[in-house]
Amino acid sequence: MLKTIKIKCPNCGKILLLMATPNIEKRRVTCSSCGKSEAFTDYELVSDVLNNSSDTVLPGGNRGIVYLVDDASGERYRLNIGVNCVGRNAKTSSADVRIFTDDFSISRMHSYFTVSESSNGALRCSISNAKNKFPTLVNGVELEDGDVLPIAPGDVITLASSKFHIEIID
Ligand SMILES: [Zn+2]
Repeated sequence: MLKTIKIKCPNCGKILLLMATPNIEKRRVTCSSCGKSEAFTDYELVSDVLNNSSDTVLPGGNRGIVYLVDDASGERYRLNIGVNCVGRNAKTSSADVRIFTDDFSISRMHSYFTVSESSNGALRCSISNAKNKFPTLVNGVELEDGDVLPIAPGDVITLASSKFHIEIID
């Protein structure tokens, strides 16, 4: 099972999230911030394992539906195949998925949730920052702009001050 690790660029200090692919210590990594390519071993290892969900295949086949669940209200929001922009519901919100919440620190376009389906019908989900003023965290680790982190049921997703998780319903 692949793991997600966090490393620090020796040139610009940007924290990068990446998959611990086999033999990663022999590879070169290109920083998404400064664009420089360095040997993996030149990066500072910030944290070893963030989660084990990176190659988790979400249960559910072609009929599976992914939901984002607001832990506080219990409200379920459907995530479609493709990119879903998630944000706080507001008159001026243009998010695909609008969260009905009193947490005004959630931006109107807070995070992107991407759901993809492989040829065998397995679903995968990942998350990245959108135009958020307050952070997006997965299991307590803050996403930097440009990070794309796989998520699975059981992961704690924090948008600003509110906690969410994903569920798959067959
Ligand atoms: Zn860099």
